[in-house]
Amino acid sequence: MSGVDVKLVLRSTRVVTPEGTRAAAVLVADGAIEAVLPYETEVPEGARLEDFGDDVLLPGLVDTHVHVNDPGRTEWEGFWTATRAAAAGGITTLLDMPLNSLPPTTTVDNLRVKQEVARPKAHIDTGFWGGALPDNVKDLRSLHDAGVFGFKCFLSPSGVEEFPELDQEQLANSLAEIAGFGGLMIVHAEDPHHLASAPQKSGEKYADFLASRPRDAENTAIENLIAQARRLNARIHVLHLSSSDALPLIAAAKAEGVRVSVESCPHFLTLTAEEVPDGATEFKCCPPIREAANQDALWAGLADGTIDCIVSDHSPCTTDLKTPDFASAWGGISSLQLGLPAIWTEARRRGHGLEDVVRWMSAAPAQLAGLSRKGAIEAGRDADFAVLAPDETFTVDPAGLFHRNQVTAYAGKTLHGVVRSTWLRGERIAADGVLAEPTGRLLERNH
Ligand SMILES: [Zn+2]
Repeated sequence: MSGVDVKLVLRSTRVVTPEGTRAAAVLVADGAIEAVLPYETEVPEGARLEDFGDDVLLPGLVDTHVHVNDPGRTEWEGFWTATRAAAAGGITTLLDMPLNSLPPTTTVDNLRVKQEVARPKAHIDTGFWGGALPDNVKDLRSLHDAGVFGFKCFLSPSGVEEFPELDQEQLANSLAEIAGFGGLMIVHAEDPHHLASAPQKSGEKYADFLASRPRDAENTAIENLIAQARRLNARIHVLHLSSSDALPLIAAAKAEGVRVSVESCPHFLTLTAEEVPDGATEFKCCPPIREAANQDALWAGLADGTIDCIVSDHSPCTTDLKTPDFASAWGGISSLQLGLPAIWTEARRRGHGLEDVVRWMSAAPAQLAGLSRKGAIEAGRDADFAVLAPDETFTVDPAGLFHRNQVTAYAGKTLHGVVRSTWLRGERIAADGVLAEPTGRLLERNH
């Protein structure tokens, strides 16, 4: 270590590393992890020691599915509020979805607009997905070259008119183009024909909403998507998997060598259809939260590696758009600040350790996005951390959340796991609910 200026040592009896959890001292220099050494290692002269005792030191979480909506729908959310909520929740990197902002991230010019808006507001490192629309195949390669992490498309209506879905032929065209330059397509997979033929009943009953977004819609869309990826040798990622019926076909595709990865979300893994009260549209999202038995199968999919990662799909709106009618209310669940405790609470109940949670919420999303400096506590990575008191509990009070509209499906829940502090490149950016000034950087693919 001679010649390296170690300014900070973070110590805990429980540091979650890729080789397991152990007592360790993490040496930080120039915002990066210089070394992970035994707990008793002498603190280098001139370095500051932070000892977290038995609180757990985790790599900062990486959330690759966040709708920030800025600029354009900033009354729903914005980079200032979203990145503060993320920092308070132990997240140190987020990737913004290309829709719901105006403009959407579908051309290089639009990407530049988004970056300029985000730059002064980002409390954590922030990157961007591009969007694949029916008419922007010509823009995909330049967006890729400009640093987006991949391209999102819908196969059924997105909910906003400026972001239309792709039909199967358009999907094939975009996918072929993206495969040509080695990019990644991330897909909201619900089949429009199955949705159109499902019973559509408005009102306050959750069961009616659930029936309007059947599992078949997801299963068929994923089956078609896998077939296209196989044919074109394209790399695809299935967003927010809810239907556990699709797990066998995904597992088979992976075994066969199709380049497919899958995410699910805290709400599918911790909330159930059976518990949604009538009219409680803070629980509405698409695809929907399904039954408890479906949730058990999703956890089995996580355990056996069919599902790669867990990300928030934080998709907020203003309170007035959450009308009690499930058919017309805006779909989207706000959970950015709560994903870690929500998942940890359920994971521990099901016999999983924090190593699993770190794999699903930090290492795997970092790998999905090609963020080689994120996602693990090991030498050479950015010094991004979350400090967690895993056995402590708290009750979710929406007034304590930092996202713009304090609506959440988790209100009143008692969760395990209190995030004590969050660190970005060796600087403490959040501690006990107090946020520092923004120091997040804008990230580009392979940078
Ligand atoms: Zn989403």
